[in-house]
Amino acid sequence: MGFLHLEYSEGVDAVYVCKNCNTHLTTPYDIVSRTFHGKTGKAYLFSNVMNVQTGPAEDKHLSTGLHQVRDIYCKQCLQVVGWTYDLAYVESEKYKEGKSVIEKFYIKKKYVNTYTTTKDEKNLQSQHNTSQMSISTAGISARSTILRSTT
Ligand SMILES: [Zn+2]
Repeated sequence: MGFLHLEYSEGVDAVYVCKNCNTHLTTPYDIVSRTFHGKTGKAYLFSNVMNVQTGPAEDKHLSTGLHQVRDIYCKQCLQVVGWTYDLAYVESEKYKEGKSVIEKFYIKKKYVNTYTTTKDEKNLQSQHNTSQMSISTAGISARSTILRSTT
């Protein structure tokens, strides 16, 4: 296998990674809604995901109407982790377009030291200008407990 280009978020203190292979997929600051459900149970809607590949577009009748969706796979281990919305045919569901659902079962939350996320410095410019404003309060309280398990 050749070199796989992976992206990484900058300036966040927590990320969601693939449970299988630890590839960074999104961050808690990209969560739009926690009320989604997938095959494995709870799922979150994210405004932004990375390091995923998408399958072919299919029209699906969901409980909220007809949508055009694609499966999304972890780019590294090819595990299907959720799906993304290309199109929502129902006006009230349009907010989902371009967003992705990832099932909680397939990811784990990982706390990172914001000063040492420069693991992949080359890629840092491109990511996550929008989510940085929400960093300060959310997530900090749980940080100390999780840090132990990640170091
Ligand atoms: Zn993976």
